[in-house]
Amino acid sequence: MDSKQRIAKALEVATDTKVFEMGRGASEKAPSVFSKWFPGRKAVIVADVNTWPILGKRVCALFREAGIDTAEYVIGKKEFHAEWKYVEMVDKVIEGDFDAAKAIENDENHIEADAAKAFRPFSDDCFVAVSVGSGTINDLCKLCSHHHAQSYLSLPTAASVDGFSSFGASISYQNSKQTFSCPAPVAIVADTDVIAAAPKEMTAAGYADLAAKIPAGGEWMIADLLGTEPIIPAAWHVLQDCLVDLLSNPEGTASGDPQAVADLFEGLTLSGIAMQAAQSSRPASCCDHLFSHILDMTHFRFNGKLQSHGFQVAIGTLTMCAVFDEFLKMDLTSVDVEKCVSLWPTLEQEQQRALEIFKDFPAPRLGYTQITQKYDDAQTVRLQLEKVKACWPGFKEKLRAQVFPFEKMQALFKAAGAPYDPSMIGVTRLMLKDMFPKVQLMRFRFNLLDLAKRAGFYDSLVESVFAAGGAWDLTKEVIA
Ligand SMILES: [Zn+2]
Repeated sequence: MDSKQRIAKALEVATDTKVFEMGRGASEKAPSVFSKWFPGRKAVIVADVNTWPILGKRVCALFREAGIDTAEYVIGKKEFHAEWKYVEMVDKVIEGDFDAAKAIENDENHIEADAAKAFRPFSDDCFVAVSVGSGTINDLCKLCSHHHAQSYLSLPTAASVDGFSSFGASISYQNSKQTFSCPAPVAIVADTDVIAAAPKEMTAAGYADLAAKIPAGGEWMIADLLGTEPIIPAAWHVLQDCLVDLLSNPEGTASGDPQAVADLFEGLTLSGIAMQAAQSSRPASCCDHLFSHILDMTHFRFNGKLQSHGFQVAIGTLTMCAVFDEFLKMDLTSVDVEKCVSLWPTLEQEQQRALEIFKDFPAPRLGYTQITQKYDDAQTVRLQLEKVKACWPGFKEKLRAQVFPFEKMQALFKAAGAPYDPSMIGVTRLMLKDMFPKVQLMRFRFNLLDLAKRAGFYDSLVESVFAAGGAWDLTKEVIA
């Protein structure tokens, strides 16, 4: 299948996205796409100080030439993350109250409004958002359009994340990074001239975000085997069948080669469509992303700067490849199921453990709520372990075929210009090791570490990654 066929097939399983136009100069088509899907509506171009000059201004002019009533809202901040405050800002933009939006944007002591009360009835008087930017602007427009019971048009400016076509928006609310359910855009117009010219670090970040689907797929296979989250074939195949191919030119990605960047953007879009088909982020992320969420939630900075989603995910992805390497050395046919079951903690013990681990975290009850949701009783654990034990030799080979070894992934990241050592984003190996207990507990989703907990080898598995000769050998710490 070529790219056109893959995209056509993907749109068949997409629940929200009806149009995906990608190509050189594709932004010229944006006004006609808008007019087709939003006839008679007013548009507001939502951009920031970086994306306005490179694409927003041009698109605004094209819309006006096409006779579309068009306004603009340019976010003045040089650096901002997807925080709830900006959701309230874009909600005002869609309502056409640009002064109120600016006031929220510039309010340094803003108090977050109640997320549950953000929904408004549909109104023709509202503007339709035209998102011109990278992941953050797109996520804001996605959630805010949902608040107004309407869709939007997305014009990506970088192949930096997979969120352009995904179901849900990742937003920090009440100190916690959360995925708010909201439909993907009805239309995406991806101008590869613009995307290929994006800063190299953004493209490298997108490469890492796409590569994360390799270990994430492995963790989904484990959840599938244990029956906690079965694989949804449409969501799996749309991305996993071409994922290795679309990751195969990291050098081209790094040099901004238009075809390599188009392939990367296609992969990211297919990942988002996989999420639409599954109606969850399961096809696109697991533990690989949770290291990044911890850094986001603790407002981690390196040299004074927030690190991009993809750069943080690069380190989480490498770490999980290393965990898989150690995991695949194990022989699970020798697990003593009765002993594991007799040692299995009660829900109350797990809740206490979670409260202890998260006690100094910005969201101290996060682990407690998630483990409460995903806790399995001893009898379920017995069945799960018996299943893994019985399937192990064959299942191990399937996992080996799915997940890249650490060294291979590290070489790809080097070639793509993505971080390949935690020190490159200012994270020490010890910090990474200390994140593991939180990573295991911070999401209701079943992960590899949950299996390790059940089978009694969690401690040795994590230790081996940081031991002498391990991927993140603590004695070879690069930064103090
Ligand atoms: Zn991601």
